[in-house]
Amino acid sequence: MSSVSLSIGGIIYIFLLLVVCIVKKVWVLKAENKVYFTLIIVTLFGLFLDCFSFFLTLSQFDIHHPIYVTLTKLMLCYYNIWCFLFVLYLIAVLLRKKGKETHFGKYRKILFVYILPILLLISLILPINYVQQGNAIYPQGLSIIIDYCVAFIAILIMIIMLLKNKQYILDKEFIPLWVLIILTTFIIIIQFLFPEIILVTAVEAFATFIMYFTIENPDIKMIEQLNLAKEQADRANRAKTDFLSNMSHEIRTPLNAIVGFSQSLLEDETLSDDTREQAKDILMASDSLLEIVNGILDISKIEANELKIVNTEYDFHNIFEELISLTKVRIGEKPIEFKTYLDPNIPAFLYGDYVRLKQIILNLLTNAAKYTKEGFIDFRVSTIQKGNVCRFIISVEDSGIGIQKEKINQLFTKFGRLDLEKNITIEGTGLGLAITKRLVELMNGQIVVQSVYGKGSKFTVAVDQKIVAKEKQVVEKKEEAPLVLTGSKKVLLVDDNKLNLKVAEMILKKYKIDTTSVVSGYEAIDLILAGEKFDLILLDDMMPKMGGVETLKKLQGIEGFHIPVVMLTANAISGMKEKYLSEGFSDYLAKPIDKSELEKVIRKYLSN
Ligand code: ADP
Repeated sequence: MSSVSLSIGGIIYIFLLLVVCIVKKVWVLKAENKVYFTLIIVTLFGLFLDCFSFFLTLSQFDIHHPIYVTLTKLMLCYYNIWCFLFVLYLIAVLLRKKGKETHFGKYRKILFVYILPILLLISLILPINYVQQGNAIYPQGLSIIIDYCVAFIAILIMIIMLLKNKQYILDKEFIPLWVLIILTTFIIIIQFLFPEIILVTAVEAFATFIMYFTIENPDIKMIEQLNLAKEQADRANRAKTDFLSNMSHEIRTPLNAIVGFSQSLLEDETLSDDTREQAKDILMASDSLLEIVNGILDISKIEANELKIVNTEYDFHNIFEELISLTKVRIGEKPIEFKTYLDPNIPAFLYGDYVRLKQIILNLLTNAAKYTKEGFIDFRVSTIQKGNVCRFIISVEDSGIGIQKEKINQLFTKFGRLDLEKNITIEGTGLGLAITKRLVELMNGQIVVQSVYGKGSKFTVAVDQKIVAKEKQVVEKKEEAPLVLTGSKKVLLVDDNKLNLKVAEMILKKYKIDTTSVVSGYEAIDLILAGEKFDLILLDDMMPKMGGVETLKKLQGIEGFHIPVVMLTANAISGMKEKYLSEGFSDYLAKPIDKSELEKVIRKYLSN
């Protein structure tokens, strides 16, 4: 009874497997799929025969009744067909692996046209007799012996085939096949020794089921294709990020010259008003260009999951003041009342990524200034403090053009600019809010928009920051003394771009600093080896043959070398500063050179 329950169970799951294969149309795929589909149908047929013969033994037929003989002969035919299909299946898999699928027809013909019909004929012709042992009746005779021989030969052929194709035998696709071959051999031996147990068909059904995981399964194939597509997309994304960081470098290098020279023009007292205005316009246009480059870099970093939140201690008061003065510049001459409010209870020192927090608020304030012609901008910072967490509630409200209700959803998509007819004259890339939203999310915060079209908008951001100190210790604020350098200071400039060298020389000359310029790391090393003395080295990174990092390593290898080396590079994507500092640079300056940053460096390394 237990063996028939195996067969009934087999019928259920093989039937389900058949349905799955029909739904997935496996037979339209490769040769092995077709063989497999046939195997399922044959197995189902075998399982039915198995059950039928069991119920027949329960009825009181004479054991020599023709129905018994017919059933047994059909079973023998089934075993032979199953073995041949199993062998053909392995041939199909191996041919696919070797890329020789065209040979499949030849093998199928040999097995199923020349050999199998002869064997089936022998099974049908040769005699069978039945043995009764207790309740069990089982067949014996030449026909049965031939059947066992066919099974063993089939297994032997499969093992030889696998051993002959050593390169695949450890392939994970072949592991189930090995298990099946061993299992089938084992079961055939048991069946041979204990013919009264009917096991073979159920085991074959199980084997058919397992084989589903070795065929060119559409699901497995789809997962493989998806993985491949993901890999390709990742690679393309990495290429895009690399391309953008190169572009950033390429654009920043000439910008450095444009900004440097126009700043120098502005400082020229003899300049006519018109030329001064033009120099100012050049500076403003360069700032916008830099903003665009930075925006594109930020969004690509965010998309590549490379933008990280860097937490440090900071004082929000300073940021608030800075944001106000930057926004005032943006508002310019427009008739806009700029109202501001900062919670007087705001903790003195907080811990978080103030650079990104500033970027978020500045984006909102810049937009308010851009999209408001007249009226007001109200910038408010309130806080809710609980334990050591300070929740910022930052709102920027304006009386500007407002946003149509149905467009609010598109606000945060990248390159999404709304209402173009109205704001066609306003500069923008449509990246600001996309970046803002992602930054807020990275800081585990939230951003909401309320807007009435034609009346104005209100953007509110909530982010948590850690409290470091609630009260400010009263420290007398020392006015920073104007930068005056005593004695002669010598700076070595290393950059392959002559224009950049000229800009740096020009800026440093204003501080009365002596400069020596070289166009490669090799020349810089030669100068140091020759015993030249410098107080500071400003070193570019991306130079042909030997980059800045390698040059620094070589310089540090020179005995007695203690000169501070500052990286001065156009490679200014976020995270670069940390990277260069970890390489051993004393400091980092991005191109175009920011005057106040440069002053900080000079103050730190050259002033007494
Ligand atoms: P950009 O300002 O560079 O176009 P943003 O991503 O900052 O890009 O903004 C996307 C769009 O949202 C803008 O083009 C504008 O149509 C709309 N928008 C943003 N802020 C405001 C605002 N304060 N008032 C009206 N419209 C706004």
